[in-house]
Amino acid sequence: MSNTKYIFVTGGVTSSLGKGIIAASLAKLLQAQKYRVTIQKFDPYINVDPGTLNPYEHGECFVTDDGAETDLDLGHYERFLNVSTSQANNVTTGRVYQSVIEKERKGVFLGKTVQVVPHITNEIKERMCLLGESGEYDIIITEIGGTVGDIESLPYVEAVRQLIWEFGDENAMVIHLTLVPFLSAAGELKTKPTQHSVKTLMESGVKANVLVCRTEHHISDEIRRKLALFCNVKQEAVIQSIDAETIYDVPLLMLNEGLDKVVLNTLNLESKPIDLVYWKEFLQKHKNPKQQIKIGLIGKYVELQDSYKSILESLIHSGASNEVKVVVESIHSEFLSASDVSEKLKNIDGVIVAPGFGDRGIQGKIDAVRYVRENKIPFFGICLGMQMAVIEHARNVMGLKNANSIEMDPECLEPVISIMENQKVITEMGGTMRLGSWDCDLVSGSLTHEAYGQNSISERHRHRYEYNDHYREEIEASGLRATGVNPKTGLVEVVENPNHPWFVGVQYHPEYKSTVLNPHPLFVDFVKASLKYNHSK
Ligand code: GLN
Repeated sequence: MSNTKYIFVTGGVTSSLGKGIIAASLAKLLQAQKYRVTIQKFDPYINVDPGTLNPYEHGECFVTDDGAETDLDLGHYERFLNVSTSQANNVTTGRVYQSVIEKERKGVFLGKTVQVVPHITNEIKERMCLLGESGEYDIIITEIGGTVGDIESLPYVEAVRQLIWEFGDENAMVIHLTLVPFLSAAGELKTKPTQHSVKTLMESGVKANVLVCRTEHHISDEIRRKLALFCNVKQEAVIQSIDAETIYDVPLLMLNEGLDKVVLNTLNLESKPIDLVYWKEFLQKHKNPKQQIKIGLIGKYVELQDSYKSILESLIHSGASNEVKVVVESIHSEFLSASDVSEKLKNIDGVIVAPGFGDRGIQGKIDAVRYVRENKIPFFGICLGMQMAVIEHARNVMGLKNANSIEMDPECLEPVISIMENQKVITEMGGTMRLGSWDCDLVSGSLTHEAYGQNSISERHRHRYEYNDHYREEIEASGLRATGVNPKTGLVEVVENPNHPWFVGVQYHPEYKSTVLNPHPLFVDFVKASLKYNHSK
């Protein structure tokens, strides 16, 4: 057995307490003490992956280098830890069952009755230990999605119980995240919901070693004592997680509370000097901006906080590195038209046209691109946003009135965005999208080339349709340059308008690779250009 230690993070009382942020913050503190750590998320829903989930249901779908469509918490892990995650870091009930059923069909179980215990729990356990067995990590943090007590969480909690029993208390532990609500009528913080959720966990044979209590008010020593006594944990293992100004404060708040020390102590590991210099520098810049700009984010899910999560976080990283406060104004593309675009973009210093699928809100996006192109407002088109820039150019500059994407109009006469021959191979192989990391060569002297300071880059993709190469000569000749091309397939990945101060469209998703330590160069440059535009007004 490897020496890897396992930390399981469960949630109680209610969902949306921010288990992902707590897990990522703890991982950050352990990483800053030179422990090799990774995080994985187990989601109890039956979808095989979140790729098909509507953003209304589950927020943004995060994409890893190896092309896994995952839960947005993996984005937090990457942004906090500055390490890449993979398919192995996100497992759902659907995937677990799919794999068990495939094994059953192949006769792997030798005619035995296939059951939740032990077959499903064994599959879960195997996957929980997969990264640990690679020998690459000292500590694996496993976040269990959902709330303890949910029917669908039961096999996961049982798998955790079995693993703790197998590994022993010094090698595996549980952190339980709960809510300590404040009842204003009584003027008191209440511990009962936490007591009940710890009890529910115990009914499944799992003891919480650490309680992390989400709260809006400071938890007194008396309440800590009470929680410790009734929930069977040491008093120093009752950790307060008070509402923070930004998620990036949470690692430091957890450090103050001693979460890392309790965890290391429980796992019989030593506490080491902690290096969070760059993290603190980032926070210092983020909280003390010298100037302010307003970015318009044009999309169709703008009313939802989580659907453009990685873009919003990338703007925070790049804002801090420019020492600028980036205020994001969400603009609904469905309610945007040529007649009100100038009014709606009046105070905006830069525009991002967001990724998306389907034709809802498309015309609003095209009208916005036209406006920012003609008025020389910095423009950053991401995935669908880049495709909209190509369509806008074809229609309004080249005069191809029928230009469109075949996603919006399969019969379209001028399909400037289409499915390419190279792409059809992927479709035939059963996949329907270009996913994960692909290389791209940048044209020297282009804005993108300058921003990255590199000739060749690798970025993550998640789309079905492509820039149609048949129109490339005409598009380039009329002023929209292809400045990034996939060296293997020849597919155009980046377009730029050289007659505009900052007009860039990328077929890939740069937002998936922006981290606190490495803010994405294109976002950094876009914020810089928007600041310049702000000054020029
Ligand atoms: N709907 C477009 C496509 O499939 C763009 C996807 C996206 O923006 N992620 O190509």
